[in-house]
Amino acid sequence: MTMIKLFDSVAAAYQQAPASFYDQQGPAHDQFGRRINYLRVSLTDRCNFRCVYCMPAEGVQFTSKSELLTNEELLRVIKSAAAVGFEKIRLTGGEPTLRRGLVELVREIARTPGIREISMTTNGLLLDDMAGPLAEAGLTRVNISIDTLNPEKFRRMTRGGNLERVWAGIEAAEAAGLTPLKLNCVIVRGYNEDDAADLARLTLKWPWQMRFIEVMPLVGVDGVAEGGVVPTAELIERIERECGPLEFVGWFGSDPARTYKLQDAKGTLGFISSVTDPFCSTCNRMRLTADGKLHLCLLRDDELDLRAALRGGANDSDLEALIRQAVHLKPWGHGLPEGVKPTVRGMSQLGG
Ligand code: SAM
Ligand code: SF4
Repeated sequence: MTMIKLFDSVAAAYQQAPASFYDQQGPAHDQFGRRINYLRVSLTDRCNFRCVYCMPAEGVQFTSKSELLTNEELLRVIKSAAAVGFEKIRLTGGEPTLRRGLVELVREIARTPGIREISMTTNGLLLDDMAGPLAEAGLTRVNISIDTLNPEKFRRMTRGGNLERVWAGIEAAEAAGLTPLKLNCVIVRGYNEDDAADLARLTLKWPWQMRFIEVMPLVGVDGVAEGGVVPTAELIERIERECGPLEFVGWFGSDPARTYKLQDAKGTLGFISSVTDPFCSTCNRMRLTADGKLHLCLLRDDELDLRAALRGGANDSDLEALIRQAVHLKPWGHGLPEGVKPTVRGMSQLGG
C-alpha cells in the first residue's frame, strides 16, 4: 500500500498530489493517511418528524425528485465506492424508511462485492412493519433515535412524533435480529437533559447501546443548538448521580462513542462528544447526499458533485477516480473550536 504524504492544508495537498495519485490501486486513504471505508448514504431529505435540533418547523425546501439520485445511480456510486475500498454503508436521511423500494435497494447493496455491512439510522416510526423484510434483504443492524421516554416530551422534541410506535419499531428491530441495537439520543439543554438517566437505565434490561450525542450547530437549528450543548462530562456526572458509578469500557477505533457501563447492565452507554472533544483523527467516513454530492466532513461545506458526473456520462473508472479524489481532499477535521460552522446544509440533508 502506498503511504500518502502528510500535508498541512487541503489546498497544498491538492497542488502537490502527484499526477499518478489518481491511478492508485488499493483501499483509498486520505492525505493524512486515514483509511476511509465508511459511506453514509442519505436516501432522502424528507422526514415524517421535525426534530427541534435537526429541522426548522416550517419552510424547509426539499430536493425535487429529478434532483435525487435514482436507485440505479445510487448503486453505481456504491459499487464504485466499494471498488476503492469502502466496506460499510449506512442508510440515513431525512428518514430513510420513506424511500420507496427501500427493501429492494438494500437487497441490491447487499449483493455489491466488497460491501460487508449495511446499517441504517432511522427514527423507527415505520420500523414495526419494515424490520423483518429489511433484515431478510440483508440489512445488518439499525440505530434508532429516541430522545426521551416521556411521550409528551417526545412529541415536543420531534414536533409530533409518536413514542409508542417508535418503541414498537425498536422491539421489531430486536426481534428481526438487526442487532446489536444502538439507540441515539441528542441531548439539548432545556429539552431532555433530565431524561438521560431513564434512557441510560434501559441498558439494565436490554443488551443495547444507548448513545448520547452532543447537539451540533448545523444549518436551520441555530436557536436550539446555540446554548443547547450539554457537555459529555456534565451528562456523565448527572447520570452517575442518578444511576450510580459508570465503568469505562473503551473507545474503539473509528467508533466516535466513548463506551461506559452501568453496574450489572446488559448493555452499554456511548457518549459522542462531537463539540467538546472531537474525534476527527480517527474519522473513517464520508457522506453521499440524496442529491448526489460527496460531502467530505459533516461540519464543513466541502463537496464533490457525483450526480453531475453520473449524468454527464462518467464510466465506472471515472467514478472511482472521483471518489478517490474526494477521499484525498477530505479535510482533517471540523473547525468549531475556531468558530467555523457549516453554512449550506442542515442535518436532515446530511444524515448525521
Ligand atoms: N431520521 C433518522 C433518525 O433521526 O435517526 C436518520 C437521520 S438523522 C439526521 C441521523 C442522526 O442525526 C439522528 O440520530 C439524529 O438524532 C442526529 N441529529 C440530528 N440533528 C442533530 C444535531 N443538530 N446534532 C447532533 N445530532 C443530530
Ligand atoms: Fe427527521 Fe431524523 Fe431529523 Fe428527526 S433527526 S427531523 S427524525 S431526519
